Amino acid sequence: MDGSEFRHWAHRASDWSADYLDGLSERPVRAQTSPGDTFRQIPAEPPARGEAMAEIFADLDRVIMPGITHWQHPRFFAYFPANASPPSVVAEYVTAAIAAQCMLWQTSPAATELETRMIDWLRQLIGLPEGFSGVIQDSASGATLAALLTAREKVLGGGGNRDGLAPHPALRVYASAQVHSSVDKAVRIAGIGDRNLVRIPVAGPLHGMDVAALDRAIAADREAGLLPCAIVAALGGTSVGACDDIAGVADIAARHGVFLHVDAAWAGSAMIVPEYRHLMRGAERADSFVFNPHKWLFTNFDCSAHFVRDPKALTDALGIRPPFLRTLGQDGFVDYNEWSVPLGRRFRALKLWFVIRSYGAEALRDMIRAHVGWAGELAAAIAAEPDFEIVTAPILSLFTFRYRPSGVPESELDRLNAQLVQRINDDGRLYLTQTSHDGRFVLRFQVGATTTTRDDVMSSLGVIREIAGACRIADLQPSAA
Ligand code: PLP
Repeated sequence: MDGSEFRHWAHRASDWSADYLDGLSERPVRAQTSPGDTFRQIPAEPPARGEAMAEIFADLDRVIMPGITHWQHPRFFAYFPANASPPSVVAEYVTAAIAAQCMLWQTSPAATELETRMIDWLRQLIGLPEGFSGVIQDSASGATLAALLTAREKVLGGGGNRDGLAPHPALRVYASAQVHSSVDKAVRIAGIGDRNLVRIPVAGPLHGMDVAALDRAIAADREAGLLPCAIVAALGGTSVGACDDIAGVADIAARHGVFLHVDAAWAGSAMIVPEYRHLMRGAERADSFVFNPHKWLFTNFDCSAHFVRDPKALTDALGIRPPFLRTLGQDGFVDYNEWSVPLGRRFRALKLWFVIRSYGAEALRDMIRAHVGWAGELAAAIAAEPDFEIVTAPILSLFTFRYRPSGVPESELDRLNAQLVQRINDDGRLYLTQTSHDGRFVLRFQVGATTTTRDDVMSSLGVIREIAGACRIADLQPSAA
């Protein structure tokens, strides 16, 4: 492709993208294809000769788009958002064209220096104190892994990297069952082992860790000769938005000298709004804190902001400097590859710069405030419906509910609600997902997409009511048991 062809197809891509975004609300939110529908249409073997871009573009619409679930759809209420606001998409496009590999300061000084600045803008926006520095990781999973590796090497004085874990007592990590499975994964990858992830029970309206139980668990482990290594606190757990009492947890972490990492992957973005910041009280005493602008701060995946109080502890755990990465006297700044697991790094700071500058902090705050407000309004409207119940009250913009028509026995409600969420998603006007809470099958509802309006949220109730009315016990699949 020569320069003029590139210009032509790049314009075509931007027109295609603008048309796509303009027409989003007409599409079903969740892909309506069956397993294998897309796969069968893709030739089993690669083409021997290049094909025309016009044909490739035509196949994008014909083959690929029917199998896409539209995360930017205004009625996407499933999982958590993965926002791509227009300024962020523009920045991603430019980033792809520059295609800098930002592993060292020298491999693109502007990328490193912008990253340092953007991390500090985010720190200020969410109200973490000065003294935290940070890095943009590829994912919250990557940040949590980096945090646990740091905690491991801190508690072992570098002995894990040096000797492996065999010579050392078992390391212990503490978290509630409300933390995301990325914590379980990090515990495995860090060599700590599933059995050393100690689950602390939760209590209270925010489903937070029982801090006294945490204290007892750490003391008992020490007594037994085990090595308390890290606590992972949830700020906005994935299932129902659980928030630990971070200040209480930080007291225990300090008392026992245990590393504290806070996973605020989703809810962290809401901390730019001062009214919600009480949820992160105590986070200023954490060792490590992650949140994903790629969820709720209108910035394309991937973009995880990972803050640390002691960057040297992180680079001691992860930094390796082979001769081929030496930069011979030109380094004026940090080399961010030493702060993360992968060596290669995309230029992720640029999209944050575009997003934060083009919206400004006040507009970003207002968007999040609106999402939280509409989720609260919808939850109140559902609570007023005779055949529905709110199971967990809104935490920021996430709540759970279930259909509970009179006369249906409790034993049938899980299957009835499973049928309901499936029918809602087959219908396509909305997209919701489910979770299990206290042994009950419940529907999650979260508000967070860039283009969502109050009407998108409030009109969902009519759709849910209509589809629920068509769910019949008689149609239920027999239970798997
Ligand atoms: N933590 C929480 C609370 C999450 O909800 C998620 C994903 O939804 C993650 C961590 C993992 O995020 P990532 O996909 O950035 O690894």
